[in-house]
Amino acid sequence: MAQIKLQNVEDYYEIGEVLGSGHFGQVRVVLERASGVHWAGKFLKLRRSASSRLGLERKSVEREVEILQSLQHANVMALRDVFESRAEVVLIVELIGGGELFDFIAEKESLSEEEAIEFLKQILKGVGFMHTKNIAHFDLKPENIMLADKTMPHPHIKIIDFGLAHRLKQGEEYRSLSGTPQYIAPEVINYEPLSEAADMWSIGVITYILLSGLSPFQGDNDKETLKNIVGMIYEFEEIYFNQTSAMAKDFIEKLLVKDPIKRMTADECLLHPWIKAANRSRSSINMKRFKKFNAKRKWKMSYNMVWACNRLFRLQLQCKSRSQEDPELVRESRKYWV
Ligand code: ATP
Repeated sequence: MAQIKLQNVEDYYEIGEVLGSGHFGQVRVVLERASGVHWAGKFLKLRRSASSRLGLERKSVEREVEILQSLQHANVMALRDVFESRAEVVLIVELIGGGELFDFIAEKESLSEEEAIEFLKQILKGVGFMHTKNIAHFDLKPENIMLADKTMPHPHIKIIDFGLAHRLKQGEEYRSLSGTPQYIAPEVINYEPLSEAADMWSIGVITYILLSGLSPFQGDNDKETLKNIVGMIYEFEEIYFNQTSAMAKDFIEKLLVKDPIKRMTADECLLHPWIKAANRSRSSINMKRFKKFNAKRKWKMSYNMVWACNRLFRLQLQCKSRSQEDPELVRESRKYWV
């Protein structure tokens, strides 16, 4: 288990502005007092009692810490330090200043397949490294693929958010229904034993979107999306893929394979002719559609955030009216107002 410090994080780091929010807390810029170096602090609220619906179980936080500690790779967010107080755990991680890869691409006028492949290669290297350690991410999606510094000529990919990651052990079956509908593999939906191959499916979906600006299984609602995934209902519609090379489609087809055993691994992807001969590709991505996809994605993210806040608000009201019966619940819901 990682060395978790019980000291007050603020004795060592000055807490700064909010960089982002997740289900269980916020990510903020922090300044290391001793060195003057900036890091990011991921503040994770801990569940106060087994019956509580708020916060994370300590066990889950320990798992995320343990996984991050064993993943030292140029394309994976690095963990520096961990602090724990009664109510929360703070992960001090490297500050990733370049924003999300998809936002960076959406700001461009055009993007060739060759440039897209350069990013994919880095994702594959980071994910491939995790897989050599028998760790699966289980939540690969555009929001979790960031850039170290977008002003560099060849920005560096950083994979973040290991909240759903799991170390797979030989002889042990792992099943989970977690993930984000658009990106999850059929075996997740079917509650079958999971492997690293589930990440490769997500990379297939991400590549499909990157090239076309279209989400392969997206239905009108989550239920329909999940049905499309399990039924393998997707196609390369000519109007969206007329700029895409045949090699690129072949690459995607070898990832969006229902049987996880038959799906390409990260190492096999790096050897696929589309990836290897990147410099020979004359095709480009469907930028107009991609920008639309990204704008819709960002809108949905803000909507989800407002929805989550409203849910907490309702929960707090509910707690207020039940305060005589359940003061512990009231205390817990208050922690979420920051
Ligand atoms: P989720 O609820 O989506 O699983 P989470 O609580 O696990 O989220 P993260 O996804 O790790 O939290 O982080 C939330 C957001 O904070 C990210 O989408 C990103 O915008 C920002 N963020 C996370 N880590 C960093 C970092 N190291 N540097 C800069 N920004 C970061």
